[in-house]
Amino acid sequence: MTELIAYGMLALTAVGACAVVVAAGCLVLAAIRLLQHLVRRPAARPSPAPAAAPGTVAWWSCHTLRCGHMETLHREVTPGTWACSGCGTTREVA
Ligand SMILES: [Zn+2]
Repeated sequence: MTELIAYGMLALTAVGACAVVVAAGCLVLAAIRLLQHLVRRPAARPSPAPAAAPGTVAWWSCHTLRCGHMETLHREVTPGTWACSGCGTTREVA
């Protein structure tokens, strides 16, 4: 019976030691990611889209996951082809 208690205590100690090792690994990983976040330069702003000629924009629903079926501004890229300003998906409109 005494041996069983001793083995139980040893198992609990081993589990605790493993938890400490995992926690230390998480802290190191978090520190590395924090340093990467602090050192990273801000991304360059994308150049604005060229201004569309009057009459070549329209609000239509966009059925992509990114736009979520919401109405977004579409620009006519070629006659009959419209591009969503939210995700860039093109659609043909007769
Ligand atoms: Zn879209």
